[in-house]
Amino acid sequence: MAVYKSKGIVLRSIRYGEADRILDLYTQDMGLVSAIAKGIRRIKSRFGGRLEPLSCVDFLAYEGRTLDTITQVEVLRSFHRVRESLTRLQAVGAMVAMVRVLSGGDEADRRVFNLLYHALDALEAHGENVKSIEAAFSLKLSSLAGYTPRLDFCVSCERDPTEGELYFAPPLGGVLCDDCSTVTEGAFPLLPNTLAALQSLIARPIKEAAVAGKLEESVRRLAYSHAIAHAPGDTGLASPARRTLHHLA
Ligand SMILES: [Zn+2]
Repeated sequence: MAVYKSKGIVLRSIRYGEADRILDLYTQDMGLVSAIAKGIRRIKSRFGGRLEPLSCVDFLAYEGRTLDTITQVEVLRSFHRVRESLTRLQAVGAMVAMVRVLSGGDEADRRVFNLLYHALDALEAHGENVKSIEAAFSLKLSSLAGYTPRLDFCVSCERDPTEGELYFAPPLGGVLCDDCSTVTEGAFPLLPNTLAALQSLIARPIKEAAVAGKLEESVRRLAYSHAIAHAPGDTGLASPARRTLHHLA
């Protein structure tokens, strides 16, 4: 049995049997991992504190056929302030769904781990800008998954899109100029300054994500519709996550 050590963020924690928990973690070295922590719910558990969702942990585990078994765990950060606010919790629910859909499977991607960690850090630090953080997260995660939205020219005629009315076409993954707005279904018009807001969210660290006023909600929806349009096909694990995203986009 291969033993490994990694850092992970708890995406989900389910009670199992008398005293166990089954955890889904996004790890730094193994991607998405499901593992059982035996005896964790006993009062004098050797695991010490409780393993709440969103906690960032260092852990030691051995590989199993379907579930790995966690033998040691240390909570590094609990991000408890994120769990105390419904708005932030909903934002995190969407982010976790997106990680499952866009980074499903056990391909390790340290950048995804880091992005999720920094998003939680940003949400814990700011009560405001939650939608901006969500938008920045989905844009950055789309880019890591290889679907950077195309914003510097019209995806149909390749003209500079800075003049006239602009549209965004999730199926094509980028902006359309006024003339090309009907080349695909599902293109929607952009509010003024949307391009600049998107470019800044992509370029700046997630903790600086701050889109002002009513632009914030429309940028968030755009980022979700872009991500869901490029999510890979359904898998058993990802289905509920996909429904969550469709609901938001
Ligand atoms: Zn065009």
